[in-house]
Formats: sequence, structure tokens, C-alpha cells
Amino acid sequence: MGQNQKIVVVGSSNTDMIIQVDRFPVPGETLLGKDFRIFPGGKGANQAIAAIRLGGDVALVARLGRDLFGDQSLENFKKEGLNVQGVVQDKELPSGVAQITVDAAGENTILVASGANNALSTAQVSEHAGLLESADFILMQLEIPLETVTFIVEKYGSTGKKLILNPAPAYHLPVKMYADLHAIIPNQAETRFLTGIRVTNEDTAVHAAAFFHEKGVEVVVITLGAAGAFLSSPDFTGSLPAPEVNAVDSTAAGDTFIGAVTAGLCTGMDWKNAVIFANRAAALSVTKFGAQSSIPFLGQVEKHF
Ligand code: AMP
Repeated sequence: MGQNQKIVVVGSSNTDMIIQVDRFPVPGETLLGKDFRIFPGGKGANQAIAAIRLGGDVALVARLGRDLFGDQSLENFKKEGLNVQGVVQDKELPSGVAQITVDAAGENTILVASGANNALSTAQVSEHAGLLESADFILMQLEIPLETVTFIVEKYGSTGKKLILNPAPAYHLPVKMYADLHAIIPNQAETRFLTGIRVTNEDTAVHAAAFFHEKGVEVVVITLGAAGAFLSSPDFTGSLPAPEVNAVDSTAAGDTFIGAVTAGLCTGMDWKNAVIFANRAAALSVTKFGAQSSIPFLGQVEKHF
């Protein structure tokens, strides 16, 4: 059919700075770490990049600083082929950064300074109304002000566009927001936070999905790590397992999954097939280290499965 609907991602961009340590420092202590690495990250940017690598037509609305990290992120978005008309460099605030320490056991601590992400305002969204109006799918997370997400949902929720929310990190949402969402895609921890239900099997997943459906969300996908995902939609309800892989790093698995689902839908898949596709793409991402560095391209997913 050659059908490819347009995706607009409104969300965060960060630069992740990772130091490997034997153990975490205690307050007042200076420790010498090992490797230092810098990776582009942020849920909005990660999901936009996943969606475009996996076949989507994607524009990103994001806010960076006018600094080295901001310049690098913008270059990176252009290199990936994203439409960057909606990416703004703030005159005052720095780019968002995440300072990550990983110890010998693979545990991590993460400190985020959101910087310009916090200034991704309703005004910026209004300035790029043309871009949002051209969207078939609008994809959002919660690493930008909740007020901005609420504004988009209220403005575009009943225009026939499909709004997908990844409620991460989890915040309590205004109840009336749910009715305007086409889909919500939380992981198990976010599901528990939002619904109070611990998803451990199909019964509890059905129960948690009902919480969202009762408030008006049409499609619910709960991601289940290595177990894949649970889909509750008008056409199909049930668990869809992820392929077994040699997992080395699950960073950005959720972002890969969400970008992949959206790209799948935009290229004509139904929800069930989009989730199957997303499980494959996300499983491949956990076989590699890093965030954006681990997000596969469409050809790689097609070749593997
Ligand atoms: P999570 O955010 O942990 O729920 O993971 C998101 C998605 O990544 C899951 O729905 C799976 O598709 C995939 N995934 C995560 N961990 C693994 C794993 N160990 N093996 C295969 N797929 C995984």
C-alpha cells in the first residue's frame, strides 16, 4: 500500500554520562571511577529514533540548550533523518543531562538534571502547531512538564489523531486525560504505580488493563521485560512473548518497544502485529549495550526473525 502515516514525538532529550565504578561513593567521598562514556538519550529522543530506524516518518518536538550537548544532539537528530523543525535550543537553560554510575554488580544510580526539557512549554507546542496538525500519531512520555502533555491531549485528543502515552516516569495523571488517549504503554512498575495492581499473570494484566479502559483508553499495552508484552485491544487481548535472546543491557528496551509499535502501526500493521514486531525489535536492543546505540534498524529486525 505504501502507506506511511506521520508520527510526531513530543518529549525529552538528554545526554547520558556514564561512569563505571567498583562501588558507589558515600557522601563526602571522592572515588576514582573506570570507564567514562557519553551517550545520547532521553525517552523522547530514544523513541523518535527507534520509530524512524524502524520505518516511521518521524518529527521530534524537543528542547535543548545552546551548548555543546545541545549542538551534538541536534546534529544526531539530523543524521538519523528526523524532522527537527520542532527542536528548539533554549537561550538560557542547559541541555538535559543524566549522570549515571554503574557498579561492579551492574546496579546503577541515575541523577537527571532536566534543564531545557523543563521548558518544553505549551507555548513551544503552539508555535509548532502546524507540525502537530500534520501528525497521524502523537507520541508522548512524562519527562517534560505534565502541563504540556495535558495541553496536547486536550487540544488534539478528539481530532481523530491517535495519541499514545508512555507514562514514564510515572506520575499521577489527571483522570480526564485518559479518555482522549488512543493507547497507553506502561511497564510493570508504572502499571503498579498508576493502577495499584501488580501484574504477575494474565488475570492481573486483564485487571490492570480494565483500570485504563474504564477511564476511556482504547488500547493498553503492558510491557513485561523478558516475558514480552500484554495487549488489550478491541481486536485482541492476551500475552505476546518476546523472543529469547542473550540479554546484556536492557537500557532503552522500553523506548525501542514503544518506537517500534508506533512505527509498525504507521506502516499499516494492526495492534497485534505491531506488538509482535516491537517485541522483536526490543529483544534485539537488549543484546547490545547503550541506549540509542542499541536500537536496531528495520533491516536488522527483518533479518533476525
Ligand atoms: P520492559 O521495559 O523491561 O518491560 O521491556 C520492554 C520490552 O523490551 C519488552 O516488552 C520486551 O519486548 C523487551 N525485552 C526486555 N527485556 C528483554 C529480555 N531480557 N529478552 C527479550 N526481550 C526483552
